[in-house]
Amino acid sequence: MMLWILLMIGPVLLGLWAQHRVKSAFSKWKQVAATSGMTGAQAAQKILTAANIHDVEVLEIRDMLGDHYDPAKKRLCLSPEVYGSSSVAALGIAAHECGHAIQHQKAYAPLQWRMAVVPSTMIVSRALPFIIIGAFIFPALGMKAIMAVAVCYAVLAVFQLITLPVEFDASRRAKIILKEMGMIQAGTEAGGVDKVLDAAALTYVAAFVAVLGQLSYYLMVLTGNRGR
Ligand SMILES: [Zn+2]
Repeated sequence: MMLWILLMIGPVLLGLWAQHRVKSAFSKWKQVAATSGMTGAQAAQKILTAANIHDVEVLEIRDMLGDHYDPAKKRLCLSPEVYGSSSVAALGIAAHECGHAIQHQKAYAPLQWRMAVVPSTMIVSRALPFIIIGAFIFPALGMKAIMAVAVCYAVLAVFQLITLPVEFDASRRAKIILKEMGMIQAGTEAGGVDKVLDAAALTYVAAFVAVLGQLSYYLMVLTGNRGR
């Protein structure tokens, strides 16, 4: 029981705490205007051009904090509070997404691996609830169902693990570019970018820990070592 709490509830709490930190860092630094006066969209466009990337479209999406780079469609999607804002938070996030576009252009290995694992991750995420429900309805499946669940979590763990260097590297690039291109001033502004991007990085660590917790739990059930 204690082990279950540690492996399942612990990571959930860590995840919630990480989410909270992202939201509070973002809401604090979205109110601080960067002296460069550039919006997230303008900064993204300028960074892409400087990196010699001319086939990536910068567009506005409606999702709050749903900013992402889509390597398949070569789109840099920015949420309204990033796209049209010249806050320290907006520039940090816009530059981070550009970091992914630059990784794609340079064929950065972890991004390539991540793209390769995405299809299996999508299949597994869709199958997982059905396998878990199936295991409840047909207890006769027993260990076979648990084995299938463990395999699903193993795939998800690999995906989350590969995501870590991809995200850390994008933020590292973003911080350097923003300073080099004079979009963010050293000192308070750069500190704000660090806070926002580091908080976001922590959510990926939490996601990995959560999947690892699930995987360990099911592996222990399989090996009959549930710690009772
Ligand atoms: Zn990212």
